This record gives sequence, structure tokens and C-alpha cells, in this order.
Amino acid sequence: MEQRVLRFETHTGVRIYSLPVEVFPQFYANVYLVIADGLVCLIDTGSGHGNSNTDLVAGFAAIQALWGEKLSLADVNQIILTHAHIDHFGGLGFVRQFTQAPTAIHIADRRVITNYDGRLLFASKALSRFLRHAGVSAEQHQHLMGMYLHNKDAFRPQPIEQTFEDGDRLCNLFEVIYTPGHCPGQVCLRLDEVLFSADHILARTAPHLAPEMITPGTGLEHYISGLRQVAKLDGIELTLGGHEQPIENLAQRLEQIFASNQRKIDRISDLLKAQPQTVAQLSAAMYRGLQGYDQLLGIEKVGAFVEYLYLRGYVRPVNIAPDNDDRDPINVMYELF
Ligand SMILES: [Zn+2]
Ligand SMILES: [Zn+2]
Repeated sequence: MEQRVLRFETHTGVRIYSLPVEVFPQFYANVYLVIADGLVCLIDTGSGHGNSNTDLVAGFAAIQALWGEKLSLADVNQIILTHAHIDHFGGLGFVRQFTQAPTAIHIADRRVITNYDGRLLFASKALSRFLRHAGVSAEQHQHLMGMYLHNKDAFRPQPIEQTFEDGDRLCNLFEVIYTPGHCPGQVCLRLDEVLFSADHILARTAPHLAPEMITPGTGLEHYISGLRQVAKLDGIELTLGGHEQPIENLAQRLEQIFASNQRKIDRISDLLKAQPQTVAQLSAAMYRGLQGYDQLLGIEKVGAFVEYLYLRGYVRPVNIAPDNDDRDPINVMYELF
């Protein structure tokens, strides 16, 4: 799909530019530039990988050429990160070469940026435990962990000057709607009739989900609560996601997402009705032929759904021995309950 810089203007005259940046090969994110009296705010920074930084600079050149906005990264006086995933914050070091603008993020995601290495260590141990719980083979475990850690040491921790929480008002302009699930500190930002939905709500695809067993604040339960928060908002006429195209009919998109979640729940229930299975077996049945990083994402996603069903008492583990062994259970089989 063609990647274009887009311009929007809210009813109060705030200008918004959507700058497409290639954050990973053939995978684009939208960085937003918001301009209001005295404010030049960048929402997200791209990944800092590959073409991401040059695409960001090219975005500024495009808004100058197409709309006469004489701005560069040096004019940015506020940075807001929608959540701490590398495709959204990885370009922070690059952006800071041009500007001293303060950077703001939800309090629950600050540590990912300020304590990147420590958090990575914690998260990788938790992922390793989850994969054993999920029933992947020893060989697959090594392969998936290797993929998870690949390139992860490229980011250097950065200071964060500002944090925010649900309901806060930023720059006297944005209302924070806290929508964890995809990430513990994921937020949506409301500005007039526009909602910046980050990765919480995308036009075509469902965002990645992983179980809370790996990182508290993620998982399907939080994600669905976050969707309900957004569904309560009145008067949103345009939704701008962290990837993909703008969403004009938010209510309709929410309906599709709720229906898609229900289909996955039904599919997992059907598979478990046939026989008890591990998360890895369910994932293999649901996402046949997934390779590489997608395989890891598939197992995490099914893990998030199984965890949700377990939390709600619809499934239960069948093979955990009631002994005094305090090691984490491995190869856990679930059955419908
Ligand atoms: Zn994300
Ligand atoms: Zn993303």
C-alpha cells in the first residue's frame, strides 16, 4: 500500500500530520505531528531501525513542500509516547539529537525506556517460563528465545521527563485514556473529535496480545476493558492508529474487534472440547504454518486467550501434580471446564 503523509485539522484548528515511517522492513508505523498555538508535539518516534529515521525526516520535508509548514525536528517542543514498544519509541535517541523537548509516557511504561536492560532481563525470564508452561519443545524454546532477544540490545536507555496517568490532560490539549492490554502503559489520546488510538485500535488488524503471565498489565482482560473505555467516548469522528489507515467509523470498528475476539474464544473452546491441549498445541492448530517471529507472537496470543478463559473459569489445567514441588509447571494441558 502507498504510504503518504496525511493532513487533518480539528474543529478548533489544531493541525495534525500523519507521517508514515518504515519501522521494520515492509512494516510501517504512523508518527503524528500535532501543531497548536506554540505547541509542536511529536506523538511517537518510529523505531530508529532501518529507514525509520530517514522516513521521519522526509515526513517533515513533505509537510513543508505540500502545506508550507516550515518545521523540522529541531522545532519539536513536546514528545509523547503512546506506549513502550520499540516501533514507537526506538527513534527517541535520534529525535533527541535535534531537540531538548521533554518526553512523556504513561507511568506503567516508563521503566521500559529508563531501565531498558533490566526490564529486558526480567521480561525474557518471564517469557522463558511462559514458553515452558505453554509446552514448546526444548529446541523450539531455544529458537524462540533467540528470536526474541535478537537485536534487542540496540536501544540505549533514555531519560523520561514526564509521566501521565488515566484522565490526565497533556499540553492543555490531550485527554489521556488508559487502555492497557497490548502494553502495560498503552494509552489512547483524545484531542477534540480525534482519537489517537495507538496500537489499541487499528483499522485492519488486531494488535498483538501476550499473557499477563509474562508482563502484568498486558493480556486480554485489560485489552477488552480498554476497548470498553473507548466505546464510552462520545463525539469521536476520526481515529488515528499507530499503524494502518485512519478509522472513520470507530463504533463499527469496535464491533468488528469484539466479534473477532469472540471468534477466537469460540475456536479455542472448540479445540479444547475435542481434547485437552497445551497453548503450543492450540497455537499450532490455530495458526498453521506460522514461521519465525510470527510463531512466537502466535503462541503469546493464544496464551493471552487461554489465560483469559482460565481467569473466567472456563478452562482449567489438567496435569499439574499437587505436590510440594515449587518449580513452575511445564507443558500445562488445559481442558474446558
Ligand atoms: Zn505496540
Ligand atoms: Zn506498533
